[in-house]
Amino acid sequence: MKFIDLEAQQKLIRGRIEGNIKKVLDHGKYILGPEVRELEEKLADYVGAKFAVGCSSGTDALLMSLMSYGVGAGDYIITTPFTFIATAEVVSLLGAKPVFVDIDKNTYNIDPGKIEGFLKNPLDPATGKCINPGSIRGIIAVDIFGLPADYESINRIAEKYNLFVIEDAAQSFGAEYKMKKVCSLADVGCTSFFPAKPLGCYGDGGMIFTDDEQVAQKLKSISVHGKGGHKYENVRIGLNGRLDTIQAAVLLAKFDLFPKEIDLRQEVAARYNDALGDKFYLQVVSDDCISAWAQYSVRPKGKYGKTRDDYIKLLGDSNIPTAIYYPKSLHLQGAFQSLSYNEYDFPFSKECTGSIFSLPFYPYIKKNEQEEIISLLLKN
Ligand SMILES: *Cc1c(COP(=O)(O)O)cnc(C)c1O
Repeated sequence: MKFIDLEAQQKLIRGRIEGNIKKVLDHGKYILGPEVRELEEKLADYVGAKFAVGCSSGTDALLMSLMSYGVGAGDYIITTPFTFIATAEVVSLLGAKPVFVDIDKNTYNIDPGKIEGFLKNPLDPATGKCINPGSIRGIIAVDIFGLPADYESINRIAEKYNLFVIEDAAQSFGAEYKMKKVCSLADVGCTSFFPAKPLGCYGDGGMIFTDDEQVAQKLKSISVHGKGGHKYENVRIGLNGRLDTIQAAVLLAKFDLFPKEIDLRQEVAARYNDALGDKFYLQVVSDDCISAWAQYSVRPKGKYGKTRDDYIKLLGDSNIPTAIYYPKSLHLQGAFQSLSYNEYDFPFSKECTGSIFSLPFYPYIKKNEQEEIISLLLKN
């Protein structure tokens, strides 16, 4: 059994993928070829955003979004400690400081109440001093495992404190919050096309969405070395952050299947949910959300006497792979040592990282494979 079987999908559309790649080989426009524009238009339409900018990865999507707001040294960006390193890494890369606030214990997403709590008394843990409110620039919310964060509350707080909001929707492309698609829920939405993400290409790629024309134009410029009117006029510092034409061609073939795959993901998740809720804490998806289920993650309920390691071994003995997203909260990572957080600063994030693990999950996983996993997990 595979943790994510990308071949199952490829088998369905191999001909279309090869046909699209062949078209690129024939026209030879490897950089910003017509497929990039076509994909940007299709995906902007799908999420309900006015503008889309293809880019080199989800990480660069986040980095360039912060650059478009001029984030730099002395600035602070609020985010969650329960995420992939990229979310906070890009903040530090620009010389700004990430500040973490804890997650909600049911959704594992950033807790808006705790954002407001921080803003009422914004201390920098490294200095113990109050942060000048003008230096707190924005919030990066993460849709962990594909579940949208609580954007209504986050946006309300952001408006009150004059902050921008960036969606890290790297795991949640295709998900919905109150009838709207992710990547249309904040000032800027960033996603990733890393192969294992819900909509993945065959290499690195990403996309940024916004309704703000000025931001979109800046992003276009930043993604091509800060270009101005033409290629060799440079009006700002940028990077090489473009989406490859070949990756756009692959994505166009895969996108035809994608809405159907989001539906299949709901069926797969429902089968796990129905079976596992007594014995495990499940990620709670509220009625007004549809998750993209990038990962299906559970935490053992202590009263059954088995730990995460026990279950991982139990499944491993039957050659069933599992993964741990994430074994360490970002506030405890060596890379962020200089931020001076303490071990117990974010108890829910710490609790999750200590107990969570993920089960094999992809749209084409077979019912009998899920049944095997479930019966092993429910055994004694
Ligand atoms: C994957 C991921 C990223 C980075 O995306 P890449 O395309 O791998 O650079 C950023 N944030 C989160 C939450 C992710 O899961």
